[in-house]
Amino acid sequence: MPGQKKNPVVSVVVPCFNEEASLPELYRRLKKVLQTTRKSHEMILVNDGSRDSTWQHMESLARRDSSVVAIDLSRNFGHQIALSAGLKLARGQYVLILDADLQDPPELLPEMIELMKRESADVVYGQRRSREGESKFKLLTATFFYRLLRRMTDVDIPLDTGDFRLMSRRALRIINDMPEHHRFIRGMVGWIGFHQIPVLYDRKERFAGATKYPFKRMLKFALDAITGFSTVPLRLAVYSGLIAGLVAVALMIYVLGSWMSGHVVQGWTSLTMIVLWISSLQLLISGVMGEYLGRLYLESKRRPLFIIKGALRHGKHSDLQ
Ligand code: UDP
Ligand code: MG
Repeated sequence: MPGQKKNPVVSVVVPCFNEEASLPELYRRLKKVLQTTRKSHEMILVNDGSRDSTWQHMESLARRDSSVVAIDLSRNFGHQIALSAGLKLARGQYVLILDADLQDPPELLPEMIELMKRESADVVYGQRRSREGESKFKLLTATFFYRLLRRMTDVDIPLDTGDFRLMSRRALRIINDMPEHHRFIRGMVGWIGFHQIPVLYDRKERFAGATKYPFKRMLKFALDAITGFSTVPLRLAVYSGLIAGLVAVALMIYVLGSWMSGHVVQGWTSLTMIVLWISSLQLLISGVMGEYLGRLYLESKRRPLFIIKGALRHGKHSDLQ
């Protein structure tokens, strides 16, 4: 088609939520690296309903540099969905996922491309050798969470990794074809298989601003990961039912024994404990079932993953068709 530009070789996707303070530095560092690769490239910046001037910054970058694609989502959809929006629009042969806060160094890109070619891998993921400037609580919960997830699922999700990774076109195509709304992208990438290799790096402190993952969001993220990749929690009913059954048999023998020897009036404490134990277990199990059912309900609506309010490509407003 006339006027149609050729697809770039490298795409970098950056989801941004209230990142006005990091954007200029991100652009500067990323542009420098992309230029050293000597490959055609695009930088896909996704504004995830920021309340600061992130979008204005993106617009002016896109006007100045035709390799910047700026996408404005209609509201805050959350990190994983914003990332999915960017991935859907990426057209490169190599696609890098990067956070806006520069915790993961863009300077690793040439090495990642090199590794991918040399090892004919489809995914090169950044694995953290160390993490600076993160709270003890975050480190502890992250360590626990990834180990738990590994035990509960049969998907190979590498430990100590974020979404910082380079993907081949064919790996990306599969991710883009996965329709689920509750997305845990690092797990989805692990799930697709192929040859996936790590590259070790030191994770830095945020360049500016505060984390956009407060405890509540971390919890939601953890639930998305577990329910998205495992049905082990649903088996809770079976296992706890079996255990309760065994305990019940033992208790019955004890109760019958007491009855036969004439001690029957006592037992308020044990009775109360049994009632509390069984009822909380039942609530827990229906809660777990409700969690899966709710997700099933939301998925069954088949709504679009994200809504784009406006976009700029090649310095001009675009409907991204
Ligand atoms: N982010 C987003 N939407 C959100 C929350 C976060 O696009 O609702 C972006 C954020 O701007 C950053 C990336 O996701 O580029 C990772 O977020 P953050 O650095 O706050 O997470 P952390 O590194 O603390 O886990
Ligand atoms: Mg961060």
